[in-house]
Amino acid sequence: MVDLKTQYLKIKTEVDNAIQSVIDNTAFINGPEVKNFQEELEKYLGVKHVIPCANGTDALQIAMMALGLKPGDEVITADFTYVATAEVIGLLGLKPVLVDVYPNTFDINVEAIEKAISPKTKAIVPVHLFGQCANMEAIMALAKKYQLYVIEDTAQAIGADYTFSDGKTCKAGTIGDVGCTSFFPSKNLGCYGDGGAMFTNNDELAVKLKMIANHGQSTQYVHDSIGVNSRLDSIQAAILRVKLKHLDEYAAARNKAASYYDEKFAQHAKIITPARVKNSTHVFHQYTLQLIDVDRNALRAYLAEHDIPAMVYYPIPLHLQKAYSDPRYQAGDFPVTEKLCSCVISLPIHTELENETLAYICQKVLEFINQ
Ligand SMILES: *Cc1c(COP(=O)(O)O)cnc(C)c1O
Repeated sequence: MVDLKTQYLKIKTEVDNAIQSVIDNTAFINGPEVKNFQEELEKYLGVKHVIPCANGTDALQIAMMALGLKPGDEVITADFTYVATAEVIGLLGLKPVLVDVYPNTFDINVEAIEKAISPKTKAIVPVHLFGQCANMEAIMALAKKYQLYVIEDTAQAIGADYTFSDGKTCKAGTIGDVGCTSFFPSKNLGCYGDGGAMFTNNDELAVKLKMIANHGQSTQYVHDSIGVNSRLDSIQAAILRVKLKHLDEYAAARNKAASYYDEKFAQHAKIITPARVKNSTHVFHQYTLQLIDVDRNALRAYLAEHDIPAMVYYPIPLHLQKAYSDPRYQAGDFPVTEKLCSCVISLPIHTELENETLAYICQKVLEFINQ
């Protein structure tokens, strides 16, 4: 699905030197590389504060802790997403309130959010799924109307630009109270291990996020709240500094591959290509098709026979997962998500796809579907 080896070989000298310099300095934890990366990412995103942490799941958890969410508080998120979002809501004893998504963009349905708001609702967690921003203008308006926090899960959309109707443009993850991202190797800005970060423009909240990520410590050995131990290590920060310089070029490469796929598949009666919205750029963390009357498992097997990986993100809606089963929800409650889980397929998309490879993938997909 991704080709991290070829990508690495193109920046090998820079990355190797960056890793070696951390080893030479032995500043493995909280070294200068972490601070430098933080500042460079703040500049890139145009956000006041970046708080690095150990992974994207921790970022979501720390955000909810820092906002003071308490057991029983309701948090609204999409039913069609990676499990991490709902997981941390559950871990903190908060109540996940699931809502359906839009069929064309896969993003959280804003009308469904408003219907799900109750007196106990405290926050909305939009997920910028597959690399394109959710409808942040409408979500921020709801948050204002009902006094709710917004935590953006931007693990799949770092670098995407969202433009409001007044023309103001912001980077994904810098619009809500907190943005949370992941530097998992296969993410658009991926390190060579685990990593994550939170973004905020709120000075007071930044202090809390930093404190909670560091054992709730305000000054050394003084603990003001229960926190967690969640750090980005220096070697990962050094690698991320190198890769951040290439992030826009990586997004352009992903877009080029996506356009190639679009052109080959857009007119096919059995394929729906991913929709682009006008307010957000797309950074194509995933390129996801919807299949109509196609045996998806057989297609995947056929592609696998021809050495083409293809994945299903995501095969089971959250409300039908055993861990998140809840008497409030039954099969049929979120028809769009349920439909998507049965018909989506994601094709390889990354920074190193040559036209020859894309042509081969398209040929094999069409060969199977047209047979
Ligand atoms: C990857 C991902 C996460 C979790 O990130 P980790 O670094 O693996 O903990 C959370 N949300 C979404 C939408 C993701 O894609």
